Amino acid sequence: MPPKPRLGQNFLRDPQAIRRIVAALGDCAGRTVIEIGPGMGAITRELSAKAGKVLALEVDPELAASLSTEFTASAGGHTATGSNVEIETVDVLAFDFAAASIAAGSRIIVAGNLPYYITSPILLKIAENAAVLDRAVLMVQREVADRVTAAPGSRDYGLLSVTVQMHGPAEPLFTLPPSAFSPPPKVHSTVFRWRFAPRFAELEVNREEFLRFMRQVFALKRKTLANNLRAAGVESAAAIAALSSAGIDLKARAESQSIEALVRLWKSLQKAGATPSHEVVPAMQ
Ligand code: SAM
Repeated sequence: MPPKPRLGQNFLRDPQAIRRIVAALGDCAGRTVIEIGPGMGAITRELSAKAGKVLALEVDPELAASLSTEFTASAGGHTATGSNVEIETVDVLAFDFAAASIAAGSRIIVAGNLPYYITSPILLKIAENAAVLDRAVLMVQREVADRVTAAPGSRDYGLLSVTVQMHGPAEPLFTLPPSAFSPPPKVHSTVFRWRFAPRFAELEVNREEFLRFMRQVFALKRKTLANNLRAAGVESAAAIAALSSAGIDLKARAESQSIEALVRLWKSLQKAGATPSHEVVPAMQ
């Protein structure tokens, strides 16, 4: 079966990397692990040996059928005796993680060498479901992992960093060259771990409102927070007052601010009844 580049099919062929990905998940005994994009089953096989159950989500019907033949009985789609792997032919973006967590009776563990063409939508989908997830170990393009795990003030810190880290800490684990895959992608790849611990309740912000505010303050790159606030419809005087009351330099950019400082700014604007009115749709940086 030739790989389909349009589905991001770059198959991992480094046995040590496969073992490291699964080991990075920690103890999975008795737990359900959802694998995103099992492909030809390289990670699935290792997961099967370590997890209570593996639910593998594959959008390519040909690959899913071949995996089902390997892991499950074809008749009626029932799990073969002894197999703890279930293959579901589905687009991960349409998958119901909450229902899977209810069925599993606990929070879900996630693994995957992600298809790079939809990395950001998958990360956002995972973030939306963070309440029913425990931890994830994911392979993404190195530049994306750099952004996801970046600290305030670093070159890579931006909207994607804040969006991911508001759902729990993310740490880079290791990087692989293109030669670890077949066919080799054009980019290096990095595995990172994400431990889900959403911060909205602790920081006392509404999830949707605060993430919308983040899209507004990160919309215009290389512009100051004050400029971004004005572009999103906040009066100049109100923007200056809110920045001052949050203890943020008037010339500061969102890219230099910690999550806590951005929360202070949001609360100052809320208190003054001056939250931004315009919806903006920046690139997920
Ligand atoms: N896990 C395998 C490995 O490491 O060798 C394959 C990884 S490959 C980078 C990405 C896999 O995700 C492919 O098998 C591809 O068909 C699948 N995929 C692409 N888009 C998907 C989607 N929307 N939902 C689920 N799987 C998808």
